Amino acid sequence: MTACRVCGTNISSPTYEVPAPALTSIMTLLDVPTRVFVCAACGHAQSDDIPDIQAFYDTGYRISLNSEDHDQIFAVSADGTITYRTDHQAALALRLLDLPDGALILDYGAAKADTLRKMTVSRSDLRPHVFDVSSDYAAAWQSWVPQAAQATYSVPGAWQETFDAIMSHFVIEHVADPVGFMREVRALLRPDGAFLFSIPDVAGNPGDMAVADHLNHFSEASIAHALASAGFQLQTIDKTSFPGAFFVVARRIEMPAQTATSSAAAEDAAKQARDICDFWDQASGKLRDGTQHYARRKVAIYGAGFYGSWIYCRIGQAVDVVAFLDRNENMKGATHFGIPVLSPEDLPAEAEALFIGLNPLKARAAIAAQPWLQRPGLDHVWL
Ligand SMILES: [Zn+2]
Repeated sequence: MTACRVCGTNISSPTYEVPAPALTSIMTLLDVPTRVFVCAACGHAQSDDIPDIQAFYDTGYRISLNSEDHDQIFAVSADGTITYRTDHQAALALRLLDLPDGALILDYGAAKADTLRKMTVSRSDLRPHVFDVSSDYAAAWQSWVPQAAQATYSVPGAWQETFDAIMSHFVIEHVADPVGFMREVRALLRPDGAFLFSIPDVAGNPGDMAVADHLNHFSEASIAHALASAGFQLQTIDKTSFPGAFFVVARRIEMPAQTATSSAAAEDAAKQARDICDFWDQASGKLRDGTQHYARRKVAIYGAGFYGSWIYCRIGQAVDVVAFLDRNENMKGATHFGIPVLSPEDLPAEAEALFIGLNPLKARAAIAAQPWLQRPGLDHVWL
């Protein structure tokens, strides 16, 4: 039994459950099972708390810290032009927020705050502030955020009710109490201030359901419920500009909002979440079959992101993984779990099978577009 993190309803049993190890969003392993609970009352799906969550984010979670240029790729166009995630987020945030001149804006759970920094490059009038629950990022803020506009571990009392806008990019999926988090944000906004947040859309990227440190897997129904409970009026849910993610804009309101979720919408969302859990059960079964078939033979894994890492955790002991293949230039020459990461064109000739570690909604088109992966005698194993 567990209580829904959004509406408090008791959920009697998990819909999805696999034994340890669990894989985190930063590709580390935790010695805990992965369990997902689905709430039919508000359409939320959620995972168990991870052990020692504060230490994990304070000192253990250093996303994109190693190199100044390391950023995740958002898209690669036909002519090879790469768009990085934070550039896309910055443009999207400026468009969705429509900020007034000289706006006071806070990145809450900022990490390096690259998105906000890029926003201030095109909007030098903005007055940026940053907050994080770790001091790891202070050096990344130093050159462009005034000292008084930086906060770590706790937010200064003087910041209450001051901000025109607050952003949280890919933070709320990690927090144990998302409604409490939204209330903290609301208290920092001026009346009618805007809150923009991005979170994974598990329906657009089913892999999110199996990420151990993503405690929340929101639906549009549970987003609406959470915001109403926290004192916000939902303005926009954009799920097309950043495939696999929701970009949500809400306004601080003074009166308690009506809970905007209909029970039909919540039930639809819960059904969709259960279907995704079923997908992962089936994927586990396919990997077990594949592992038996290719036991101790040489295989490669396409994708060094979450899906490919998840596959490796389940087959790496039983088969001989000779390479990860990944198009991300930043990973070229790297090793992942001690295995070399190669460009797809460099698929080793000795590989007899290629396990496809991509978003299943996009995987077949992505693999079909690469002739060097259609070699005779190379089997494709799909999730
Ligand atoms: Zn609920």
